[in-house]
Amino acid sequence: MAFNQIDKNHLWHPYTQHKTAGPHPCIVRGKGAKLWDTEGKEYIDGIASWWVNPYGHANEFVAARIYEQLLTLEHVLFGGFTHSPAIKLAKKLLPLLPSNQQKIFFSDNGSTAVEVAIKMALQFHLNQGRKKTVVVAFENAFHGDTFGAMAASGIGIFTEAFKEMLLEVRRIPIPKKGLEQASLDALQKAVEDQNVAAFIFEPLVQGAAGMQMYEASGLDALMRFCKSQDILTIADEVMTGFGKTGKNFACAYLTEQPDMMCLSKALTAGTIPMSLTTTSQKIFDAFYDDDINKALFHGHSFTANPTGCAAALASIELLTSESMQKNISRINTLHKTFQVAYQPHPKIREIRILGVIMAIALKTDDTEAYYGTLRNNLYQFFIDNGLILRPVGNIIYVLPPYVITNNELQKIYDTIVLAIEKFV
Ligand SMILES: *Cc1c(COP(=O)(O)O)cnc(C)c1O
Repeated sequence: MAFNQIDKNHLWHPYTQHKTAGPHPCIVRGKGAKLWDTEGKEYIDGIASWWVNPYGHANEFVAARIYEQLLTLEHVLFGGFTHSPAIKLAKKLLPLLPSNQQKIFFSDNGSTAVEVAIKMALQFHLNQGRKKTVVVAFENAFHGDTFGAMAASGIGIFTEAFKEMLLEVRRIPIPKKGLEQASLDALQKAVEDQNVAAFIFEPLVQGAAGMQMYEASGLDALMRFCKSQDILTIADEVMTGFGKTGKNFACAYLTEQPDMMCLSKALTAGTIPMSLTTTSQKIFDAFYDDDINKALFHGHSFTANPTGCAAALASIELLTSESMQKNISRINTLHKTFQVAYQPHPKIREIRILGVIMAIALKTDDTEAYYGTLRNNLYQFFIDNGLILRPVGNIIYVLPPYVITNNELQKIYDTIVLAIEKFV
């Protein structure tokens, strides 16, 4: 049977109200953009399994590298030791990042990458005798679920139960076209009391908010202002990184450079959980001292796990290959063709595209809840039709693995059009 009884009895799934949720199909196998459950039902993974797997499921190239690493050195503590997979990763990754990024700190998921960046920002100031306790973030941001990352997140459903217990975060609107000045004004107001340590943002695309997009020039203006005020900038590229926006990193669209970056998700091609917080030399130097109290006292058991580093190295090789870059632009072109055909659709308000990301905002009233009835109906319709998409509110988005075939992508488009006819 596809729906496992032990799962029902004992497993607790994320973001799930188990009383009202349907059963969880039991997936046994994947290949490319496809997954199969215990009954042989086929699914197209239209969101790269929460944006982590751009190069296809059960990728043999990545698997071989991981296997080789497991038989050589599966793990060694990173406190007091180093190893060649971490060194090779630094050599390979840093040239792809903004040129000021010089240091890499390892952890295991997007939330901890953000957690580390926030702790670095607060201690950066403290180490220089300035106590600053506030962070600025965008409205509807998502930066993860641990306490610091959750504080920076602005989507109510994720933070409501804990809102009295969080780090102070001030919110500003994203600099959408026409709202650049309003966003900058809000930032200037938010930092007036000189108590703001850092500004954290998802560059160009707010993923969990439903792929909300804004222009690079608006973000550049905000970053320039932060620089003038000694407020650190943190680019959370956990979702946007590794090709999703059409460039290796969304920061490549900017003229300003962030002080820190957070990377995870696609970093290891959906294999070994790993994340990175990268920083400029300036950040590192504020911790570099004879005084041990000025060091960063943060670490995890699996910090810089060599197997994870080997997976990341293999992933970056795939990302930078000519064929993968061609896949990224192929998907972008197909999205644009869909946009031209369906933008005039009476039930579609807006179609947004950047790189392989496409979001379709539906013409419903905007009170649709994040996990509301429309979303649930759409989600179930897609599952019934062998498609994994997770709409949010009244937004359907596609973020496919780069290796998806044209036919698979066409099936996604066709099924979305059917769903819109049926439910909107
Ligand atoms: C998913 C996500 C995170 C959190 O990453 P996890 O690995 O789920 O902890 C942080 N920031 C952004 C922008 C994300 O999309």
